[in-house]
Amino acid sequence: MARILIVEDEQRIASFVAKGLRAEGHATTVVADGHDGLDHALSGEYDLMVLDIGLPRLDGFEVLDQLRAQGSRMPVIVLTARDSVTDTVSALEGGADDYMPKPFRFAELLARVRLRLRQANEGDGSGVRDMLSAGGVRLDLRTRRATVGGGKELDLSAREFMLAEIFMLNAGQVLSREQLLDHVWGLDFDPGSNVVDVYVGYLRKKFGAAAISTVRGMGYRFNT
Ligand code: CA
Repeated sequence: MARILIVEDEQRIASFVAKGLRAEGHATTVVADGHDGLDHALSGEYDLMVLDIGLPRLDGFEVLDQLRAQGSRMPVIVLTARDSVTDTVSALEGGADDYMPKPFRFAELLARVRLRLRQANEGDGSGVRDMLSAGGVRLDLRTRRATVGGGKELDLSAREFMLAEIFMLNAGQVLSREQLLDHVWGLDFDPGSNVVDVYVGYLRKKFGAAAISTVRGMGYRFNT
């Protein structure tokens, strides 16, 4: 199940796309203008965006430009009129985005949605585990970048990143303070220190309080 944002001002197309994606088990939100679309896309609550080009207030190209300028790497599938495919392709050149000429069959769109979601989950597909994903948080282990939801980038310190990494490698399992302290700060660190608790607090502020549960008397658990 993915959370998909649909930014499309033609209601007939928007509801056709939303209905089809819901039937596939995805959660959908429809927004009818570019300005609201950008706000939603930057909220970090979505895994993928289906974006029309001809939109009121802010066109699809502007939405995409501003989204990328803010550091979001959310996968985007652009919907474009068939007679402007050439313009669209050149506008997207160099980006990782996909386009769908209108009119399209739903099966074609669905195939692209599946591909984009799979790529987003697998990183570059090199076989090395370079992307961790749990509880709506993604860590790119090569670039040391952290994103939430649809791709909103978070600023993590080196220690915060290491702590997030050990948590996410063991998502759903309880880790003791000693394990976390040992992994992130090393054995020589004072075991009576509350540094783990402090840093868990920092991650909760960035990932949301619900991301990490306190398991009384045992430690912490990163929720999937
Ligand atoms: Ca339109």
